[in-house]
Amino acid sequence: MKVIDQINNSSQTLFSFELLPPLKGHNIAGIYKTIDPLMEFNPSFINVTYHQQEVIYKKHPSGLLEKKTIRKRPGTVAISAAIKYKYPSVEVVPHLICGGFSKEDTEYALFDFHYLGIQNMLGLRGDPPKSLRTFVPEKDGHTFASGLVRQITNMNKGIFLDEDLENTFRTDFCVGVAGYPEKHIESPNMASDLHYLKEKIDAGAEYIITQMFFDNQKYFDFVRLCREEGITVPIIPGLKPITTKKDITILPQVFNIDIPDTLVRRVQACTSNEEAFEAGIEWAIAQSRELIDYGVPVLHYFTVGISENIRRIAEAVFNPSK
Ligand SMILES: Cc1cc2nc3c(=O)[nH]c(=O)nc-3n(C[C@H](O)[C@H](O)[C@H](O)COP(=O)(O)OP(=O)(O)OC[C@H]3O[C@@H](n4cnc5c(N)ncnc54)[C@H](O)[C@@H]3O)c2cc1C
Repeated sequence: MKVIDQINNSSQTLFSFELLPPLKGHNIAGIYKTIDPLMEFNPSFINVTYHQQEVIYKKHPSGLLEKKTIRKRPGTVAISAAIKYKYPSVEVVPHLICGGFSKEDTEYALFDFHYLGIQNMLGLRGDPPKSLRTFVPEKDGHTFASGLVRQITNMNKGIFLDEDLENTFRTDFCVGVAGYPEKHIESPNMASDLHYLKEKIDAGAEYIITQMFFDNQKYFDFVRLCREEGITVPIIPGLKPITTKKDITILPQVFNIDIPDTLVRRVQACTSNEEAFEAGIEWAIAQSRELIDYGVPVLHYFTVGISENIRRIAEAVFNPSK
């Protein structure tokens, strides 16, 4: 079922989570190991991230540096199909990005999704590779996620890149997009970011999943600003529990987010990563409970390949009687 239909058909907050494909050379078994302990909480959908290729410098024994282009986490499409068929009760939501894709590549990826019976996807621009400061689209690729969303929803209308095709089929994709309660890092201000978020919705996106945040007030304010902007689609909060002590310095740098002072002090007082892991679970449980009371459609957790914390949060939040 499409994510939007799941939301519309439910009167309760749903549970979902995001997975990263395994590092190149590692087995899909790790994916199942993350999913299995979370299945008892009836996830509605599982997202699978997409990682474009990046440039690395490999040092040879001679001291020479070799420039190499690699994809560290390939396999999004195949992993999505594997999840879909191994866990038939759960919808899979592969991420599709603009980076590294020409429009034609995108069209072929959409054919693959359609042939595999995958109906849901999250349409994103993608981050610039670590070696670059700014995002550079592929030749004849999309510069912004709105263009990608439009291409996906065009296919739903039977519109393909090749205008000469006749008697084309229509897909029935449901596409979500990313939103940033604390503003996207490249955006000059919130008003501009909201304007372009609206453009993605006008292009046919049916829901928003937010970047992680640690202060629910940021989410509540974001929802209000979106509604004032005329964005009416469901806004799914994305949550990432703190797992190590250094998260409080790394996450703000990487994701352009603030961490509330109470949480910073709580994590700083931890004497080990194990304690910080526990503090992260406690904080996420409190955040989740407040978000459920507010009436969020779905709680979406970024697992980063760790399920123990998400299992304990889900147990407290979705299965409190156990
Ligand atoms: C839930 C979630 C999941 C994610 N999953 C992945 C993933 O799997 N793989 C990955 O690589 N990255 C992922 N990301 C990161 C995301 O790709 C980056 O944050 C990226 O930098 C922006 O992507 P976007 O789709 O929000 O871009 P866009 O919506 O295109 O916006 C990018 C920036 O451009 C601005 N903008 C948009 N349209 C215009 C326009 N027409 N003119 C001028 N400015 C404009 C926006 O305000 C914003 O600042 C994810 C992010 C989130 C929140």
